[in-house]
Order: sequence, then C-alpha cells, then structure tokens
Amino acid sequence: MSSTFSMDPGADQLAVRDWLHGFAADVVRPAAAEWDEREETPWPVIQEAAKLGIYSLDFYAQQYFDPSGVGIPIVMEELFWGDAGIGLSIVGTTLAAVAVLANGTDEQIGTWTPQMFGTPDDVKVAAFCSSEPDAGSDVSALRTRAVYDEAKDEWVLNGTKTWATNGGIAAVHVVVATVDAELGARGQASFVVPPGTPGLSQGQKFKKHGIRASHTAEVVLDGVRVPGSCLLGGKEKLDERLARAREGVRRSGRGNAAMATFEASRPAVGAQAIGIARAAYEVALDYAKTREQFGRPIIDNQGVAFQLADMRTRIDAARLLVWRASWMAANNRPFTAAEGSMSKLYAGETAKWVTAQAMQILGGNGFTREYPVERMHRDSAIYSIFEGTSEIQRLVIARAISGMPIR
Ligand SMILES: Cc1cc2nc3c(=O)[nH]c(=O)nc-3n(C[C@H](O)[C@H](O)[C@H](O)COP(=O)(O)OP(=O)(O)OC[C@H]3O[C@@H](n4cnc5c(N)ncnc54)[C@H](O)[C@@H]3O)c2cc1C
Repeated sequence: MSSTFSMDPGADQLAVRDWLHGFAADVVRPAAAEWDEREETPWPVIQEAAKLGIYSLDFYAQQYFDPSGVGIPIVMEELFWGDAGIGLSIVGTTLAAVAVLANGTDEQIGTWTPQMFGTPDDVKVAAFCSSEPDAGSDVSALRTRAVYDEAKDEWVLNGTKTWATNGGIAAVHVVVATVDAELGARGQASFVVPPGTPGLSQGQKFKKHGIRASHTAEVVLDGVRVPGSCLLGGKEKLDERLARAREGVRRSGRGNAAMATFEASRPAVGAQAIGIARAAYEVALDYAKTREQFGRPIIDNQGVAFQLADMRTRIDAARLLVWRASWMAANNRPFTAAEGSMSKLYAGETAKWVTAQAMQILGGNGFTREYPVERMHRDSAIYSIFEGTSEIQRLVIARAISGMPIR
C-alpha cells in the first residue's frame, strides 16, 4: 500500500476508471430508466459485467489491494455514476463476500466466495442478512437465533431478516444470528447458508422509492440447518470470542469488532453516493448552459451559477473525505475520529442535497421521468439510511471525538 496520500492514483488506476466509465456510460446508463421502472434485478446487465470481468471476485480483490488505496472508491463512483439501482445490483454481492473474507477461514473463503458470483455464463448473486424488523440501527437486538446441534455438528437458524439486498434470490446468503443473547452484538456470529438449503425462503419483496433495480426483500429462516463448517471462522474461534466477550461485558461493556468492520466499509458506500451526485451535477450543468429564459442561458444568473459552484464544491469535498478514509483503511491507520463514518455521512448527505439542487435547476423537466435527475434524487435518499443512518454516523463520530458514551 502507498504510505503517502496522493490525489493521483496512478496510471493503472486511471485506466480502470476510464474502463469502468465506458461501461457505465455505454451499458449501465442507457438501461437505467428501464430497470428502474421494471423494479427487477437487471440480470442481463450483471451478465454483461461478468463477461467483461467487472463482476467477479478477482476484480474486486484487485481493486481492494490496489496500492493507491482508492481502487474501490474509484470503481464505485464510476458504476454508480451510471446508475445506482443497477450499480447496487452489481456490487450487492460484495457485501456478503466481504463478510466471508473478514470472518471466514481460508477454506470457507475458497468454497463460498466463487459460488457467490457464479460464472459469466451462469451469474449468481449473494446476500448479507443482518437487519431485522426490530433490529435496524440497534444491531445488538437481533432475534434470529443460531443453536448448535452437537450430535449432528449442525447449526439451526430461526428468525426473520429484513431489507436484505438480493435476499431470497441469492445463491449464497450470509446470515448474522445471535448465539448468546446476553452478550448483545458480541454474542453474534455469521453463518453461510448454502444454495438450496431447505427452510430459507424469501418473504416480502419491497417496493421502494429509489434504487428500484436492486432487489430488497425479507428472508425467512425456518429451522434452517447448516453444517458446522458454515459457521464463519469456526467453532473454536467463536467459543474463544464468546469467552472473551463475557469477560469484556463484566469489565467494561465496550464496543465490538463488527462496528470496526462497518467503519472500514463505509467509504465505499460514500463513493457510491458521490457517483450519483456527480451524475446529477453534470446533467444540471449541461442543462443550465443550454436552457434559455429571458433571452440568455439560465447559468448566466448568479443564483443558478452559484448553486452549481456549491454542488461541485461539496462533491469534491466528499470525494476527499472518502479517499482519505479509504487510504487510511488500506494503510491500517486507525480511524480515531471515525473518518470512515465521516466520509459516508458527508457523501450521503451531499448526494441528497446535490440531486435536489439538480432537479431545481431543471425546473419542470427535473420533476419528470423524461430526465434522469428525478431518478437520481430518489436513488440518493437511501444514502442517509443504509449502512448506518446519518444519525448513527453522527453518533459514531461524536463518540470518537469526545470519548463520551453519547446516546
Ligand atoms: C434499500 C435497502 C437496502 C438494505 N440492504 C441491507 C442489506 O443488504 N443487509 C442488511 O442487513 N440490511 C440492509 N438494509 C437495512 C439498513 O441497514 C437499515 O434500514 C438501517 O440500518 C436502518 O435501520 P431501520 O430501517 O430499522 O431504522 P431504525 O433503526 O428504526 O431508525 C429509524 C430512525 O431513527 C433514527 N435513530 C435510531 N436510533 C437512533 C439513535 N440512537 N440516535 C439517533 N437517531 C436514531 C435513525 O437514524 C432513523 O432516522 C437495507 C435497507 C434498505 C432500505
């Protein structure tokens, strides 16, 4: 990894950016309105991405380990510049893959991550299922239970997950469940549910405000039995972790490792938001230069030009925060001021604000589905909700900068 922070990611990374931009412009953007209206997973686009090598474990691993430290944010920004709903359909699998990479043994990684992506001729997706109806922001409140059946060396999962991206249509589901309820988030473990396992079914599929090409659904786990080998990290490690957690609860009741993982993945989500914001800003800038009222382009009015100046400034500021946090994570610098949360908070709020300004600049056209900013505005709204709401990001930052148990 590069120990010097640079705004110049290097020739290799710029080539990847340009390649991704071409895919986003030629394949993703032209398909965006159709899949938004259909509210269905855009399988042909995912397949096209797979054929080009943009939907594969190798590709994301390469970007993750890029020496610049900003490989992943660059990919996310370009894909989501194309379209956020399709973008999430393409990268949603990485949520589950990251859970296996972060917590699994080498054997588990080797077994499950390829099955999450399938092959270019037979693409698959994966789902990461943590949220529940009564456990959203409060991840310690999971009711889904995992009980060990020692005689059979199997885990039995029961509960209902909600809001799962790709839930029910995934080949592989990664499910977070409670093993010891008294320990809250530290009493939880993650399990792989292999393709076709009996007892796992899709519940309600949600009809959403935005990112409608991305499938979001409940996942019902009714006596789902998985082999002992599906516990990520293995039983021995879990038992050690639970023993340590029991000690920790008695001593201090402090935070958990899962939160640190979230903190590190947040810049990537921030980069997605920047892609949406940049797309809307570009449409608005072009429109403001060509739309004439009172005999001159509307950008001739300072009121409009200054709006665009603020939009661009906030987008660039958000990117700096995202790149800083990604570089820090890649170089193992601790997020002492919750820099990962900062980047996601600012980028998410920027996307919502910029897309709203873009709609205003397009006037009546901005309010219609004839122009893409209406969709981008709807898509942006999720960025203050998932992967930790904006309020939860502020909570994490406030705790980090103050050292106080802010509620
Ligand atoms: C489209 C979509 C895709 C998703 N994909 C996934 C996925 O793939 N896997 C997965 O596991 N989950 C997923 N989620 C779930 C997502 O992470 C949760 O929706 C999110 O964490 C918020 O939880 P909640 O909806 O229960 O809101 P709640 O936690 O009920 O929050 C409601 C409001 O109260 C506020 N609030 C709550 N607690 C506090 C507090 N302590 N201080 C201040 N304000 C607070 C929140 O900020 C929010 O404004 C997805 C959600 C959506 C909508």
